[in-house]
Amino acid sequence: MILFPPEIAFEACTLRIVDSPHDKHVETAFRADGATARADVPWGDADHIAAAWNAGYGGDQWRMVVEHEVGHAFMAEARGLPHSWSVWAAAHGRGGKSNSSEWPARIREEEHLVVALQRYANRGIRDEFDALGQAFGKGLPALAQRFVRLVRPWLREGYDEPYMDAAPHPPAVAPAAPAEPPARGKPQAGNGAAGA
Ligand SMILES: [Zn+2]
Repeated sequence: MILFPPEIAFEACTLRIVDSPHDKHVETAFRADGATARADVPWGDADHIAAAWNAGYGGDQWRMVVEHEVGHAFMAEARGLPHSWSVWAAAHGRGGKSNSSEWPARIREEEHLVVALQRYANRGIRDEFDALGQAFGKGLPALAQRFVRLVRPWLREGYDEPYMDAAPHPPAVAPAAPAEPPARGKPQAGNGAAGA
């Protein structure tokens, strides 16, 4: 089971990650007016599965969706925008279908950048036109690291893996014994730490 954080708060919005066996979706609620956008997993959709492969999630559509929605909020904040253009539009019934001259272009750009960040974090390759590199320059690796730590809390420094408490494991490495050079001609026992 993937231990996604159930909630992630940003300046502009809060994301709720609902991860139960029969209901998996991500909800973004904007602080400004309480509007919400809901992202469901388009299970079995060939284009989405292909996108999930391309972004480095194998065929895992759920992980693709979770990290994609978080990516929108995360990137908007990193770029100093008031909110994600795309998710805001979806929350206000204008999901990329507006006739306004501004919306479609910046939504398209944002969608491209979010998927490119996911792909970069997972696969280490940039998008064809390097829009990611142009947007974030040398700060890109640090940005990708922040993104990964945010959405994959089990990779954070000091993260307490819950199952560790339930089933303690023996230490992986035996306590170090003082190093003694093996006596010449004598068969060596174990890997040198025996009896410690
Ligand atoms: Zn999107």
